[in-house]
Amino acid sequence: MTHTRRDFLRHSTLAAGSVLVPAGSWLQAQGTKTVQGRARMVLRFRPYTLQLKHVFTVAVNSRTTTPVVLTEIEYDGIIGYGEASMPPYLGESHETATAFLAKVDLSPFSNPFDLETILTAIDAIAPGNPAAKASIDIALHDVVGKLMKQPWYNIWGYDPARAPVTSFTIGIDTPEVVKAKTKEAAEFKVLKIKLGRDTDKVMVEAIRSVSDKPMSGDANQGWTDRQQALDMIFWLKERGFLYVEQPLPKERVDDMAWITERSPLPVIGDEGVQRLADVHKAQGVYSGINIKLMKSTGMREAQKMLLLARTLGMKVMLGCMTETSCGISAASHLSPMVDWADLDGALLISNDLFDGTKVIDGKVTLTSRPGIGVVKLKA
Ligand code: MG
Repeated sequence: MTHTRRDFLRHSTLAAGSVLVPAGSWLQAQGTKTVQGRARMVLRFRPYTLQLKHVFTVAVNSRTTTPVVLTEIEYDGIIGYGEASMPPYLGESHETATAFLAKVDLSPFSNPFDLETILTAIDAIAPGNPAAKASIDIALHDVVGKLMKQPWYNIWGYDPARAPVTSFTIGIDTPEVVKAKTKEAAEFKVLKIKLGRDTDKVMVEAIRSVSDKPMSGDANQGWTDRQQALDMIFWLKERGFLYVEQPLPKERVDDMAWITERSPLPVIGDEGVQRLADVHKAQGVYSGINIKLMKSTGMREAQKMLLLARTLGMKVMLGCMTETSCGISAASHLSPMVDWADLDGALLISNDLFDGTKVIDGKVTLTSRPGIGVVKLKA
């Protein structure tokens, strides 16, 4: 970890608020490590670009990289790690996240355990920016867990042995490629198939020709006609699907409710359910929700969404973006409480920076380390 201290000292003269960030250098937002002899939280952050192992295609786009911003919060000699992952179509970027993080001032807060106050204040800095906000939430949870010397699943009271298997996502591609990807995914017990184009049935038949595993389908808002979407869901049920995500565009609330009422499979809201306030609105529209830290602004609100969805009798899925094992590990502490996990994000990249929660024999497998449970592998 000495590299970070050294880089931090070398680059601490960079002005807060700058968005021109030299590759690999850390920026300090604001704050000093002690005030009048008492420890203070210091935030630093730097952009990083995830390299995807394969071109990834969903209903709305294709890409080979994902921009992320890595954060660290240092408090009393402890470093907490966080991450913002920002797939381009969601509107955040290196520029927006670094600009947001440069506005964050942790100096008024002396007690990292006061998560509610701190994270509420950060949320109020500006609307939007959910991934940037999550990068602070995750790092702060890591600090607090390390101070308590406990992993978050213990703090929350969740048994890691109950963590589910994770699905492995197969993007839209030609029948030959999806067959090859299906064979490569031998370790996984559930396959998640990206749907939402006119090749859906061809893709599913190709995968079914080489695998009889349970599958889930994610249309990513790609279907347009509600009757055709419902017919497709019946067709998918006959082929061993467990649930479908986001059949229609998120604005089509009445049509979504119409499908959910008639669907033989649970219908999960993803793009249509971002934060806590959306969960109430999702009742009756979807059978369940897909919680992602990069939508929810982090672990704190994600847990509130989980508890509210359960209270409302809804299904809960835990998803991710392409992320390092930092973001995936943070999310995984909620996984013992969900119906389905889709936490394959770190497996899709070739330049992970952390060791943490792994997928072992298809199952989400948490470490016993405190905080979010990660160790940084390299700078
Ligand atoms: Mg989805």
